Amino acid sequence: MERPSNAYPMNGGEGPHSYSRNSSGQRIFIDRACKLIQEAVAEHLDIEAYSSSRAFLVADLGCSVGPNTFYAVSNVLQAVEQKCHSLGLDSQILEFQVFFNDHVGNDFNTLFRSLPPDRRYHAAGVPGSFYGRLFPKSCLHFVYSSFALHWLSGIPKEVQDKSSPAWNKGRIFYPSANEEVINAYAAQFAKDMEVFLCARAQEVVLGGLMVLSFITRLDGAPHSQVFVNRSLDLLESCLVDMVKKGTLSEERLDEFNLPMYYASPQEMKEAVERNGRFSIKKMVELVEESAEAYPLTGKMIASTWRAALEGLLKEKMQFGEEMLDELFDLFARKHDESSVFKFARESSITSVLLERSTTN
Ligand code: SAH
Repeated sequence: MERPSNAYPMNGGEGPHSYSRNSSGQRIFIDRACKLIQEAVAEHLDIEAYSSSRAFLVADLGCSVGPNTFYAVSNVLQAVEQKCHSLGLDSQILEFQVFFNDHVGNDFNTLFRSLPPDRRYHAAGVPGSFYGRLFPKSCLHFVYSSFALHWLSGIPKEVQDKSSPAWNKGRIFYPSANEEVINAYAAQFAKDMEVFLCARAQEVVLGGLMVLSFITRLDGAPHSQVFVNRSLDLLESCLVDMVKKGTLSEERLDEFNLPMYYASPQEMKEAVERNGRFSIKKMVELVEESAEAYPLTGKMIASTWRAALEGLLKEKMQFGEEMLDELFDLFARKHDESSVFKFARESSITSVLLERSTTN
């Protein structure tokens, strides 16, 4: 059976191309979302209502292999403990259960081996796609997810259908493609968000919270101006070069598309409102004005993408190590030689706080 097109987790293990060694960029933004988590818990979490059940259940959806997930989870738990102290409740009576979720192919062994030994929670792995039910009804108190929700449940069908006007011939992504392709990706995002929110609405207790951070594009910004999209355009151009050189077949390039979509905060807002089961308590932009704050190099960007896309490229393009080295070296060079970094200023990462509201 063919694997769903998006079920390619980040590179596991602790080798040079692993996610655990190439995710410090994401960590900066997990740090920034910490303030929102503290506010969420301080202002919106009714801990007294849950403290009688003694167990406080947290899920990190799309956790990958760490260390970011452990850091994010400890931010959540610290905020809950602080809230207990501020109310004069004994936080020691609360037992924390943390569920680490990712695709079945995620390297859960590395994740479990690196669990912090001094953690104050019970840990469990939950394999499977978050575009579907993962937990029993009304059990989760806090759901966290970062850098995962821009992954779609799959590539939109039309984009791979030769008879459709949305067939994405010669391209691997939507930003520079025609309107039909962009619309197909946008519609897939809307559909996926609906499925995600319906599933979570079943699983999250009433009044329970979700903090979701994901890469976005600024409201009103054209897809072609978004830094991540510009960067992936360069990946596409490397693959086109390989077709010209005869190291990759044109057919294989035509069949390959990336299962991601960078929605605007407005699109996210509309998805939540359409669904009606959660209310948005706050939405914040995590990227700070000055792009100079994080000087980027082609090599850094290429390593980050390699940790994310290697599995997909290995299977769909049948690239071996040598080809991957060649591809990502060229990809890094193309970044350094292009004007892509000036678009880093336009980057956007949104963190949204949702509360499970009464509407069903
Ligand atoms: N949260 C971590 C890892 C982000 S990488 C961090 O912030 O550093 C994104 C992760 O989301 C990957 O491990 C990927 O496998 C996972 N992911 C993407 N789509 C998913 C889905 N539908 N269900 C579960 N996990 C998914």
